[in-house]
Amino acid sequence: MTNALKTDALIIGAGPCGLFAVFELGLLDIKCHLIDILDRPGGQCAELYPEKPIYDIPGFPVISGQELTDALMKQIAPFGPIFHFSQMAESLAKTPDGNWRLTTDTGQIFEAKVIVIAAGGGSFVPKKPPIPGIDEYEGKSVFYAVRKMDAFKNKNIVIVGGGDSALDWTLNLQPIAKSVTLVHRRDEFRAAPDSVAKMRALVSAGKMKFQTGQVAGLTGTGGQLTSVIVKDNDKKDHALPADALLPFFGLTMKLGPIANFGLNLNENLIPVDTEKFETSIGGIFAIGDINTYPGKLKLILSGFHEAALMSRQAFRYIYPDKKLRFEYTTSSSSLQEKLGVSEEKEQARG
Ligand SMILES: Cc1cc2nc3c(=O)[nH]c(=O)nc-3n(C[C@H](O)[C@H](O)[C@H](O)COP(=O)(O)OP(=O)(O)OC[C@H]3O[C@@H](n4cnc5c(N)ncnc54)[C@H](O)[C@@H]3O)c2cc1C
Repeated sequence: MTNALKTDALIIGAGPCGLFAVFELGLLDIKCHLIDILDRPGGQCAELYPEKPIYDIPGFPVISGQELTDALMKQIAPFGPIFHFSQMAESLAKTPDGNWRLTTDTGQIFEAKVIVIAAGGGSFVPKKPPIPGIDEYEGKSVFYAVRKMDAFKNKNIVIVGGGDSALDWTLNLQPIAKSVTLVHRRDEFRAAPDSVAKMRALVSAGKMKFQTGQVAGLTGTGGQLTSVIVKDNDKKDHALPADALLPFFGLTMKLGPIANFGLNLNENLIPVDTEKFETSIGGIFAIGDINTYPGKLKLILSGFHEAALMSRQAFRYIYPDKKLRFEYTTSSSSLQEKLGVSEEKEQARG
C-alpha cells in the first residue's frame, strides 16, 4: 500500500520554466503537481537574483526576478497547481500500467502520466565551510537553511557569512533567539545596505554581537554544539557560546539524483528533440536550462517556448483518444473559460 499522489503531469522544478509549463499544460486540461527542493517558487530568479532587472522577457521592458516569479504565479493560478516545496525528486520508476512513480527525499510518492523535468542547473546545494569535524554536527546543530524559525527560539545562535541570507536570518532570528552573533571575515558586507544598517544598529544597542574572523573549530558532544571557536584577523581565538551554527556561504548547483533516472545525458544536461522536448525515454520531457539540443540558449524565453511544444506531446499521452486543436487565448471561449475570464470581464476591462 502506498499513499501515492496521483496527477496528470509531475513537474520537477518550480523555476520560471516549470511554472510556465503549468500554464501551457493547463490550457490543454492537464493537471500538475510541482516539486522543488527550495522552499518557494522561482528557481534561479527568486534564489539568485530576485532584485536584479531582467530586460529580455518578451513584453516586459524590465522586470525583476521576483516580479517575474510573482507574475507567473498569478498567470498559472487558474489551473490550481499543487506545490510540494523543500523536497527533492530522488528516484523514478515505471509502473506496470505505464505511468511514472516518483519518490522524493521526504518519502512522498507521486504517480504521474508524464514527467516534466524543469530542474534548471539541478539542485541548489549549500557551499560547505571548511571547518574540521563539521559533518558530525550537520542536521543536529549546524544548519545550512532555516526551515522552521521556532527551532531557534531561546537558542544561542552563531550565523556566518556576509551576504543577504546571513544578514536576513540575523535580523529575523535576533528577536526570538537567546543570543545572536554574526561572524564575517571582514567588516564589509555584500548584503543589502539596509540590512547591514539594521544589523549595526542592533549591535550598537547591545542586542546582538558582530565578530570579524573565521570559524576555526567546533566544540560539543554527540552532534550538539556548545561553542564555536572563531579566529580573528589577529589570529586570536574567541569561543562563542552556541547551540546552533548557521553558515551561509552561498549555493552551488548539482544535477543530483536526476542523473540516476536512466536518461541519456550530455555533460550533465538532458538531450531532447526540438519538436516535443522529449528525452530518450517516452513520456519524460525536459525543458529550460536542464536540456540541450543544437542551438540551445539558456534563456527564460527559450524555456517558455519549449513548455508550449512539450505540452502538445504530453496531451497525446494523457488524452490518447482526443483530438488536439490549436487555439488562440484571444479568441477561444473554451480557453478563456479555463482561465476564468469571461466576455463580460473583458468588456469591463474596456
Ligand atoms: C545572475 C543571473 C542572471 C540571469 N539573467 C537572465 C536574463 O537576463 N535573461 C534570461 O532569460 N535568463 C537569465 N538568467 C538565466 C535564467 O535564470 C535561467 O535560464 C532560468 O532560471 C532557467 O529556468 P528553469 O526553470 O529552467 O530553471 P531554474 O530557474 O534553475 O529552476 C530549476 C528549479 O528546479 C529545482 N530542482 C532541481 N533539481 C531538483 C530535484 N531533483 N528535485 C526538486 N527540485 C529540483 C531547483 O531547486 C530550482 O528551483 C540569469 C541567471 C543568473 C544566475
